[in-house]
Amino acid sequence: MSQLYICHYSEIGLKGKNRIYFEKALAGNIKKAVKREFSDIVLKIENLNKRLVLRFDKDMDNERIYNALSTVFGLANFSAAISVEKDLQAISAACVQLMKDQQGKTFAVKAKRSDKNFPYTSPEINQYVGAEIVKRYGNKVDLSHAQTKCHIELLADEVFVFLNKEQGPGGLPVGSSGKVLALLSGGFDSPVAAYYIMKRGAHCSFLHFHVYPHTRKESQEKVKNLARILNKFQYKSRIYMVPFADTQLAIAQHCPEKFRIILYRRMMMRIAKRLADQHNYKAVVTGESVGQVASQTLDNLRVIEEVIDYPVIRPLVGFDKNEIIEKARQIDTYDISVLPHDDACTRFTPKHPVIYSRPEEVRFAEKDLDVDSLVERDLKNIEVIYL
Ligand code: ATP
Ligand code: MG
Repeated sequence: MSQLYICHYSEIGLKGKNRIYFEKALAGNIKKAVKREFSDIVLKIENLNKRLVLRFDKDMDNERIYNALSTVFGLANFSAAISVEKDLQAISAACVQLMKDQQGKTFAVKAKRSDKNFPYTSPEINQYVGAEIVKRYGNKVDLSHAQTKCHIELLADEVFVFLNKEQGPGGLPVGSSGKVLALLSGGFDSPVAAYYIMKRGAHCSFLHFHVYPHTRKESQEKVKNLARILNKFQYKSRIYMVPFADTQLAIAQHCPEKFRIILYRRMMMRIAKRLADQHNYKAVVTGESVGQVASQTLDNLRVIEEVIDYPVIRPLVGFDKNEIIEKARQIDTYDISVLPHDDACTRFTPKHPVIYSRPEEVRFAEKDLDVDSLVERDLKNIEVIYL
């Protein structure tokens, strides 16, 4: 018997006519995630009545499949299942067989009947199958807090039986919302921010500013390693590495000290905008929060995003630092972010950075800077890395 898995998706079901598009994106991503785990496998994915059914040509290791599926945004839950004949006795026998290793646990049978022609209603199926299980193993029924749930899904041509549902990561399939440009620094915040925008269906390309050779190569290595980890959720990445030392030097030479960090950020945004124009990124993503550091007051955020006419998305805006760190641990970026590195923005750090800047004064502070040629030169020197 071939092995199969039932995958239920979350919000895609709400998308009306777009549903087919989302289902396709989800199926494509499932395939990528599974093929990464098992390169030579034959996998067929079928879309049956608001669920995706994965069929393999041989028995699979559930744990490895579950690991793969737990990285696929858009999945609400999934489970290894068996397909049985559309016959109450056959269904019941399959459930009894599945419950063999669940003795002593409270349980509930949860039938879902998409095929209304089946001669028994869902409650009748639940009662019949539940009674058979009790008769065989003596488990206690608990309808509200069952330790084991025995699911039966009756479709037009097939019946699926499975125990419990593994929780998926939720969200929307990566790529289904388009692509965005995420500013990735090597710290804790920006990888977590990228994770959250991926969860909403955006595929991220990354943009990193470094001041090599004034600092060591580490920040670039960190960013590559972070992108490799984030590839778990989006399969492949592109990183734009921008040598930023000369631009920083120009800012340090020509502009008042207290505005430096904000002016670095404005240059980063201008470069991000140009890349977005060239490559059709729909938005720019940062790991900024509100009030976390001087450059992240609401006044300064306004001044920073004044130079870009794309949405600047800040998924972490409502997060405390400890919540961000906790998430970084969960998604495995913590161990890389925690390594020491020289942040580009700490070069020429002002002693007293401005906390509440106004647009006019920042524009004035920039007046001796040849913004356009700095942007052009930085764009020309970008190195693109594909992972
Ligand atoms: P992070 O932990 O992501 O570095 P942070 O708390 O250190 O964030 P900042 O250093 O002020 O905060 O950076 C705010 C955001 O600006 C970062 O989350 C990132 O999106 C972007 N950013 C900062 N420095 C760089 C850089 N060198 N390259 C790319 N993006 C950067
Ligand atoms: Mg930082």
